[in-house]
Amino acid sequence: MSESYDLVVIGGGSGGLACAQRAALHGVRALVIEKGRLGGTCVNVGCVPKKVMWYAASLAHGLHDAADYGFDLELVGHDWPKLKRARDAYVERLNGIYARNLEKRQVDLVRGQASFIDEQTVSVEGVSYSAPHIVIATGGCPIQPDVPGAELGTDSDGFFEFEDCPEKVAVVGGGYIGVELAGMLHTLGSDVSLFMRRDGPLKNFDPMLREALMDALVDSGVKLHIHKVPRCLEPRDGKLAFCSEDGEAYQGFDSVIWAIGRRADTRHLKLENAGVATGENDDIPVDKFQNTNVPGIYAVGDVTGRAALTPVAIAAGRRLADRLFADMPERHLDYDCIPTVVFSHPPIGTVGLTEVEAHARYGHEVQVFKSMFTPMYHALSQKKGRAAMKLICAGKEQKVVGCHVIGMGADEMLQGFAVAVRMGATKQDFDDTVAIHPTSAEEFVTMV
Ligand code: FAD
Ligand code: NDP
Repeated sequence: MSESYDLVVIGGGSGGLACAQRAALHGVRALVIEKGRLGGTCVNVGCVPKKVMWYAASLAHGLHDAADYGFDLELVGHDWPKLKRARDAYVERLNGIYARNLEKRQVDLVRGQASFIDEQTVSVEGVSYSAPHIVIATGGCPIQPDVPGAELGTDSDGFFEFEDCPEKVAVVGGGYIGVELAGMLHTLGSDVSLFMRRDGPLKNFDPMLREALMDALVDSGVKLHIHKVPRCLEPRDGKLAFCSEDGEAYQGFDSVIWAIGRRADTRHLKLENAGVATGENDDIPVDKFQNTNVPGIYAVGDVTGRAALTPVAIAAGRRLADRLFADMPERHLDYDCIPTVVFSHPPIGTVGLTEVEAHARYGHEVQVFKSMFTPMYHALSQKKGRAAMKLICAGKEQKVVGCHVIGMGADEMLQGFAVAVRMGATKQDFDDTVAIHPTSAEEFVTMV
């Protein structure tokens, strides 16, 4: 005997919760199965605790500059354990709120690890649940390289367990997580070395952003090591040594953090029982409607291996529920033009095509407008920071197809511009918009 639902969702993270709750709004009997803490990666070991740490680092920058603004402060140190306790308590509160939201919307919750029995049935600790619609929203997990001693290192999950600020730390990987963790740790007091296997971080970002970020990291004091492919980790004198393939060894690390990407978490799902196909890195390929190869089984979020961002998982989950249960047969997520922010110091915001991508798509019909400046905040601060912005326009009508910024406030700046880009705004629309003064954002509407 199995308990029947209209919808079973495996995974109580961003995508799964959004899908189940939207389905419940449409009057559907929905079940969420979660093996860990509600809220998934974003709430527990991702965006939320990361942003708390980013705020802490931003405050540290502010405190540093405070004297230049006339404050007479004596900074005696930073209490990492206190910050961690407060952060953990906040996350716990969110876990509770998420559970109560499910109750309010009458979505059932089963705690435990789900695996498929057949196309319409899953099992959790011997109990079966069946539904004509099953959504896989199991997210992903950090990967570690296949090199000797890799297990001596940790990953972003481990970072959030740190009870204290490591004195000397190596971060390996030049993606979102590597860049963000390196910046935060350095600002909060660690001696940070960032190892990247290419010539710089964020390979898919516009070159202007990559270069400006490199400069900012170097200026801040993060030690950058490029073209370093990991060979092994070794214990040496009670610390860790990072050895690269070029024969170099870097020693004395209290911790080494692998930030070399994530893979889909499909390990325990027994997908073969339902015939669900997997792709690269164990992810589950889906069509534009989030359909897997098996009718009635769908996947949303990181497990699909596309645009691993919380709002993407949420948007895909909600649209799927609308399509299945609200008579909206064409409803699906458009994966083009997804805005994203890297919480570096300063942050990066980007939407649309890079300059390279724009040239590949539009050839010579591309115009680029740039602005580089010192934000007014730094007029008084001894420590200077820069901002760089780029608008990429295409065609005779100069449609804005790319919008890129690095600098203070970029994280909050980009959302509105992303709406404009999505709506097809032209350079003329930007120019016709009255600036807000004095801000950094106004540069976007005053570029010549
Ligand atoms: P998840 O949130 O990972 O949820 C999947 C859930 O499924 C988990 O709770 C897991 O326990 C559960 N599960 C897995 N297998 C099973 C099973 N067999 N049975 C039952 N339950 C199962 N994105 C942003 O947009 N902005 C950011 O600033 C940002 N920062 C990040 C920082 C870090 C350090 C990391 C790691 C990620 C960050 N992300 C950020 C990415 C974001 O967290 C993910 O894109 C998002 O959480 C994906 O949601 P999801 O629902 O696909 O998966
Ligand atoms: P990313 O894919 O962003 O970056 C992985 C990095 O690790 C790349 O620089 C890659 O190099 C490098 N790498 C891969 N394999 C190896 C290896 N064997 N040895 C050395 N370096 C290696 O992954 P992250 O783990 O940083 O983040 C995962 C995803 O989570 C992100 O892509 C993003 O979608 C999401 N995220 C979003 C955030 C946000 O919105 N602010 C913050 C954090 C995560 P190469 O460039 O050569 O491939």
